[in-house]
Amino acid sequence: MAAAGRARLEQALRWIEENWIGEKSCAICGNTGWFMGDAIGEMRQINQGSRWMPNTGPAYPLIVLSCENCGYTLLFNAIVLGIMDG
Ligand SMILES: [Zn+2]
Repeated sequence: MAAAGRARLEQALRWIEENWIGEKSCAICGNTGWFMGDAIGEMRQINQGSRWMPNTGPAYPLIVLSCENCGYTLLFNAIVLGIMDG
C-alpha cells in the first residue's frame, strides 16, 4: 500500500483507540481481538430505480474493523474520522 494510504489507516486506528470507550468484546463471540482492513472500503447507496442495478453514484468511505475470531465487522465512516474529505 502507498505510504499515504497507510498513514491514513494509522490515523484511523488512533481515532478508534481514542474514541472506543466501551467494552471491546465482539457482539457475536465475545473475543476482544480486532484487525483493521488494509484499504478503505465503500458502501454504495441503493439505486433509486432498482435495488438490483449497480449504482455508480456517491459512496460512503469506510474503515473496516473485523473480529479476529469470527469475522464480525464494524464499519466507521472515514469522513467522520477525519481521514477523508466529505
Ligand atoms: Zn467475534
